[in-house]
Amino acid sequence: EVVADPDRTYVIGTDTTFAPFEFVGDDGEYVGIDMDLLAAIAADQGFNYEIRPLGFNAALQAVEAGQIDGMIAGMGITEEREESFDFSNPYYEAGVQFAVLEDSDVESLEDLEGQNVAVKTGTTGMAAAESVADEYGFTISTFEDSVNMYEDLQAGNSVAVIEDYPVMAYAAQTGGIPLRFIGEQMEVTDYGFAVSEGQNPELVALFNQGLSNIQASGEYDTIISNYLGEEE
Ligand code: GLN
Repeated sequence: EVVADPDRTYVIGTDTTFAPFEFVGDDGEYVGIDMDLLAAIAADQGFNYEIRPLGFNAALQAVEAGQIDGMIAGMGITEEREESFDFSNPYYEAGVQFAVLEDSDVESLEDLEGQNVAVKTGTTGMAAAESVADEYGFTISTFEDSVNMYEDLQAGNSVAVIEDYPVMAYAAQTGGIPLRFIGEQMEVTDYGFAVSEGQNPELVALFNQGLSNIQASGEYDTIISNYLGEEE
């Protein structure tokens, strides 16, 4: 069992807006599943941390460059990322899917021919879009934040977006963005907390110990259902 160093404060990167995993709550503080899980795990294990909402790709780069200690951002554990990151045990699972505005003419991936799709830099959604762009004949615009992606969709510059299914489902339910899913879910991954490969191994161990404790106590389920209802 690894014990936290009380004199150390870990700096943890996250996405700017990736509701329900991280977003600014009513009181101006970052809330969401990732934020609440990390808070519960840190309280359980007695480690100190600060959150830096850098954006997904910027957080990836800051962790890799050793500028911050770790990140939690609905980050998929992929083989490619495992070359440069060490991950915690999985704490959630999600796939990505394309979506269009409800009143769009686009009914299927075939209808994306000659159209533009908005993606977020460095994500599994971007990788999934790139993997089928030639097949379906669409172009891709990249954005640093989900908010800009949805703005591009609503402005009509892009006819579709692609990102994690639970994030778009939440946006459609609560964020007032009328989205309709097309195609199938792709790139299903487990989400993990990440550090740079070989760095801060004790932080990963603390995260895993805390995760297993809050799963056993029911706190994990309470956090998930606070954001998603009883569906989990
Ligand atoms: N789960 C996706 C990924 O790992 C998206 C994460 C995000 O946009 N914050 O790339």
